[in-house]
Amino acid sequence: MATVTIDRELCTGCGLCASVCPEAFEMADDNIAVVKGESCEGQDIKEVSSQCPVEAIKVA
Ligand code: SF4
Repeated sequence: MATVTIDRELCTGCGLCASVCPEAFEMADDNIAVVKGESCEGQDIKEVSSQCPVEAIKVA
């Protein structure tokens, strides 16, 4: 299973990851993304992560 992390220093709070894959990402109260799961329904989480405009999401 993938290990997903978000660099909260880099995240700009654009909301894209939580919008594209709400199974794995959500926006915290401070409007910075947090990881809530390790996979996305019907899509590759690595592909979703690669869409982050500031490359804040790492999938190992
Ligand atoms: S896509 Fe990247 S910058 Fe946008 S909310 Fe997610 S982690 Fe933050």
